[in-house]
Parts: sequence; structure tokens; C-alpha cells
Amino acid sequence: IKTIGVLTSGGDAPGMNAAIRAVVRQAISKGKKVKGIKRGYAGLLDEEIVDLEAKHVSDIIQRGGTMLLTARCPEFKEPEVQQQAAEICRKHGIDGMVIIGGDGSFRGAQKLAAQGINTIGIPGTIDLDIACTDYTIGFDTAVNTAMQAIDKIRDTSTSHERCSIIEVMGRSAGYIALWCGLANGAERILLPEKYNYDEQKIVNSIIENRKRGKKHYIIINAEGIGHSTSLARRIEAATGMEARATILGHMQRGGSPTCKDRVYASTMGAYAVDILCEGKSKRIVSYRDGKFCDDDVDEALAMTKDISDYQYSIAKNLSI
Ligand code: ATP
Repeated sequence: IKTIGVLTSGGDAPGMNAAIRAVVRQAISKGKKVKGIKRGYAGLLDEEIVDLEAKHVSDIIQRGGTMLLTARCPEFKEPEVQQQAAEICRKHGIDGMVIIGGDGSFRGAQKLAAQGINTIGIPGTIDLDIACTDYTIGFDTAVNTAMQAIDKIRDTSTSHERCSIIEVMGRSAGYIALWCGLANGAERILLPEKYNYDEQKIVNSIIENRKRGKKHYIIINAEGIGHSTSLARRIEAATGMEARATILGHMQRGGSPTCKDRVYASTMGAYAVDILCEGKSKRIVSYRDGKFCDDDVDEALAMTKDISDYQYSIAKNLSI
């Protein structure tokens, strides 16, 4: 490997910059050149390719977002486009690629590897919904941002003796909702993975809680369930308790990454360069069972994981 390309793809996540910085500087320390590709696969096709030196990644470790920008590129699913992308890599002397993104981005990496470009993926998404890994870049920051916002909502919810429904991100995965549910001591957590709840039970529990003197009722609702505003309306009508919905939205995707996200993203970035230099390709960097490791992309994409039933049951027991 002489020249390593790096791109971010799919949704952005805090800590992506730390990973980019690590790719650049680990590669330079090994005598390699680095090229940054802007706007994901779309930028690769448009040849938005810049040389990256150590100084170009200074002052970014503490910043959210991605300095390389990110984009979606639906046409990358077409084989002729993938072939064209590989030719562009060769034209620019890029013989190794590090792709930071989610499952979709890894499918692109898989295709690029099949076209002869050595490719390594790094999991970057706030949703934690990548099966091969217990950690994804950005989850820790996002969940801390959400937790702090929910603490604030809880204060005012208590003063006004309100029911607050707070919708957190995560798309079809409920990890952010479950973690916030536990961290914020929510009365209810609504997860797409456990979507069997009975609204009448929630209503009964709110009435019951009020009788017992509880001053607020916090419901964390996952994006995958949604409809928080209409849920609030129905709860208010059925319980007589004022109910408000807050959708936290994109604030969860931004902000300065936590220490954990900086350290893990840096480690994954450096690890990706190390295995590229060992001659590995078509691998995904993961963190599993307390260790950084790497898996074949086909195997990684075939893995499945479930939200922890144990954690969910604890959250229920602690919310009395
Ligand atoms: P996140 O889930 O955090 O948004 P992601 O990587 O899963 O990240 P996607 O929009 O699914 O986000 O994928 C990002 C890009 O990866 C797509 O815009 C496309 O360019 C490429 N991609 C996705 N699926 C495929 C596929 N099957 N084959 C080739 N490329 C793909």
C-alpha cells in the first residue's frame, strides 16, 4: 500500500473527525500518502480528492461533524458505477481505502473491494445499529447529548407536573432510547424492537403514578416508533395530565465528541491503517467483547444483534 484514501459516508457522527485524523497520521507515520475524498461515494465519482497531510487534520479531534463532508450516493449500487469508482482510485494512485460509515457504506466498501481496491470499513453511526460491533463512532456523544437534554426537560416537567414524551434518534434501532431510558430514569421506554406496548397500560400507569404522588412522567420514545405529538395528545385526553412532546432531532448528531468517542475513533482509524498495511482488505473494524478486532465484510454484514432483554427488563424494574 502506498496511498490510502479516506471518506465518510451516510449519516455523520461525532468522532468521525478523530477517526480521519488517526487515519491520516497513522498512515504518515508508516510512510504512506493519504488522500481525502469529500462527500462520500458521490465525491469519489466527482473526483473531489485532496491530499491530506498531518497539518490538515489539526484542530479537528474535538469537533463534531466530518471535515470531509458526507453524502448519500444511490447510484453507487450499480456495478458500472462501482467499476468507475475503482478506476478513479487507480487514477489517483489510491490502493487502499478507509470508509467510515454505516451498513450501507460497508456495502459500497464490499463492492469497491470486489473491484480490486483494498478496503477497510469503520463503523460510524450514532444509532449503534451495526451488528458486528458493540461500539460505533458517535453513539456515546449522541446518547450523552440526549441524556443532558432530557435532564433539562425533566426539571420543567416536574415543576409543572407534566407528562413529557421525548423522542430520540436511532432510526429503526432503540439503543439511544434504551440507554437514555436507563440514564434518565424514565418511567417508560418505547423501543421499536419491543413494539408490543398497550397504550391503555401507559394511561393506567400515569394515573396510578399521579395517585402515588409522582410529579412527572417521562416517556422516552424511539424515532422508529415516532408519532410523539399525537401520543401526547391522546395521553393528555385520557389522563387529564398535561402532556408535551419534544423531538430532540439533529442536535443528537452534532457537538464535540466525548472522550470515549475520541479515543475509540482514533484507535479504529489507526487500526484500519495497520491492517491495510498488513495487506488485509474487505474487512470491518469492530469493537467486540472488550477488544478491537476486524471481520470480513460479508460476515460482518450477515451478523445480527438484538437489544439486550436483560437491560430492558432492568429499565422496567427501576422505573417504578
Ligand atoms: P447511516 O446508517 O449512519 O446513515 P449508512 O452508511 O448505512 O450510514 P446509507 O445511506 O445506507 O448510510 O449508505 C451510504 C452510501 O453507501 C449510499 O448512499 C451508497 O452510496 C452506498 N451504498 C449503500 N448501499 C449500497 C449497496 N448495496 N451497494 C453499493 N453501495 C451502497
